[in-house]
Amino acid sequence: MRKKFTFQYLLIGVVLTILVTTLSLYNLRNTNLKSSIQNAQVIANVVKSGLTSHMINGNMNQVDTFINSVASMKNIEELWLIRSDLVKKQFGKEELRKPKDEIDVKAIKTGELQYELNESFTKTSMRVTVPYTSILENGIDCNKCHNVEYGDTLGAVSLKMDISDIKQVGLEITYLTPVLILISIFIIIVLARKNSEHYILVLDKLAKNIKLAIAGRFKEVPHESSKNNEMDALIDDYNKLMSTFRDTSLDIERRLQGFIGQKANSSHINPLEKSKDIIKNLSNLYQFKKEIELDNTKNEIYERLAQVFKNQFGIKNFAFFEIDYSKNKMSIEKTVGNSLYCKHNISEEPELCRCARTKNDVVSVDYHDSCPYFQKDDKFHYCLNVEISKNVYLIINFICDSKIQLEELKDKISFVKSYINEAAPSIEVKISMNALQESAFEDGLTGLYNRKFLDEHTKKLVPQTRRENLNIGVLLLDMDHFKAVNDEYGHDIGDKVLKELARILNESVRESDLIIRYGGEEFIVLLVGVNSEEDALNVAKKIAKKVRENEIDVYAGNKLKKTVSIGLSMFPQDSTSLEGVIKNADIALYEAKNSGRDKVVRFHESQITSVDLF
Ligand code: GH3
Ligand code: MG
Ligand code: MG
Repeated sequence: MRKKFTFQYLLIGVVLTILVTTLSLYNLRNTNLKSSIQNAQVIANVVKSGLTSHMINGNMNQVDTFINSVASMKNIEELWLIRSDLVKKQFGKEELRKPKDEIDVKAIKTGELQYELNESFTKTSMRVTVPYTSILENGIDCNKCHNVEYGDTLGAVSLKMDISDIKQVGLEITYLTPVLILISIFIIIVLARKNSEHYILVLDKLAKNIKLAIAGRFKEVPHESSKNNEMDALIDDYNKLMSTFRDTSLDIERRLQGFIGQKANSSHINPLEKSKDIIKNLSNLYQFKKEIELDNTKNEIYERLAQVFKNQFGIKNFAFFEIDYSKNKMSIEKTVGNSLYCKHNISEEPELCRCARTKNDVVSVDYHDSCPYFQKDDKFHYCLNVEISKNVYLIINFICDSKIQLEELKDKISFVKSYINEAAPSIEVKISMNALQESAFEDGLTGLYNRKFLDEHTKKLVPQTRRENLNIGVLLLDMDHFKAVNDEYGHDIGDKVLKELARILNESVRESDLIIRYGGEEFIVLLVGVNSEEDALNVAKKIAKKVRENEIDVYAGNKLKKTVSIGLSMFPQDSTSLEGVIKNADIALYEAKNSGRDKVVRFHESQITSVDLF
């Protein structure tokens, strides 16, 4: 700032000096010119008076001596007389005193003084011609001798004068002027600097600290030792402002970070900017929370979380796994991008998942595997474990393509977690609701679907299989002589036999098939999408064989073996409705019982007539 002031003063000084010097030079030239002309006029008058007196006294023969004596005066380089044509006419001697140059000619012709200035670097001279006219004044009557009118030009005195001396004096003064101005300006600068030094010093410091404040560092300005009350008050106010800014912004930042558990970053980041970011993030989080409250299903919540991860955090590859410890199952709920790099057996044995077991974040580390079940060497992972409910945990497996990506994710992970934590209670509600719904459709003894489920589910199942042109093989099973088990071993063993049958059924059919406890010891298996009647028949035979061969512990080492009778009917071949097909399967089952039990019987139209309903 100080340099700027000095430079400005100097600039003003230089401009002022140039202006004053130019003006002085101009003025000098004019003054020189005027005084030289005056000199010439004085000399011309002297010559004129001399000539007149020579003429009156009749000693014109001494004129040249007189002229030469005048010409020898200091600074007169040349001096000559010229005659006008009128005088030449009167006195003859045409060749005498002729005009020497254009200036002479013009002066004689116009009767007015003519001059010319010749300037060179070393010398300045003036060429001037002063004409004189016929007059009658002060007792002098020119027309006594001259045969002319009053006012006519009689001749002229021509001079060439050296005026360098006069100019030199003027120049010396002119040279002195800028020097004096520059000295004055220098003194002004020194004094101004001395007076403004303290102001400039404080302003410099304030400017520096204001820049720091813009960058988020609110620093006080130290007081200077000089006693300047105005500046001291300004510094005090500034410092108060800074400490208020600092305390308030740090307080806001601390409180906001508490909200979302965001990690405090390095201190050089502007806390106000950071708070602005946190508030923006909080508002997004609040919005997110409101949205998930309106979501219908758990999948919608996972989808919304996935969108946040993708759009807000720029994470491209990740998967949601749900672990249900009550069933000891791990299920993939959603995947985005390429994210399934965990070994397959983890889903069957969730305890193998390090993140699930330790209930801590598991992150790729250098030089060794943090999780032996992560199979992709050129990728990095960040696995999170979130407790949804007592038995259900959510594992989120983020996959990064590079170490830099992983580091970026680590920086924002606390905020990512705050979204998951917001979603967790809603996910829990949806899971409980699903469980509640499922329990309404579940048979308490065997864990299979109940008849209510069959009624509800067939509403969706039938149109779907029609659309996709799929078959459903319907097996209706009934345990043979089951009443005898109850009678002989009691109901507990009876229940055990039913559970064993449920287990065999679960093991014998595909995940996509549906097993329903239809009544006491009657079961329906819907083989959804079975290729053919033969395939369905084979599944039925396989079940019958497994049941037949299965030994059930009853008591004291005693084993029990049971059989089932199975009726088979095909949808849509045997009936256009599923109820019709079940009815047909029942007819086939009836025949299986009638023909000796432990049989699989395929339904035929002919069976309808032969059924003895009573
Ligand atoms: P059939 O070979 O003709 O089928 O002979 P069955 O003895 O199996 O005949 P029935 O269908 O008359 O007997 C069914 C029995 O199953 C009657 C009932 O007491 C018993 N039962 C039904 N539900 C349960 C149950 O949940 N637990 C037990 N232990 N028994 C049940
Ligand atoms: Mg029965
Ligand atoms: Mg039975």
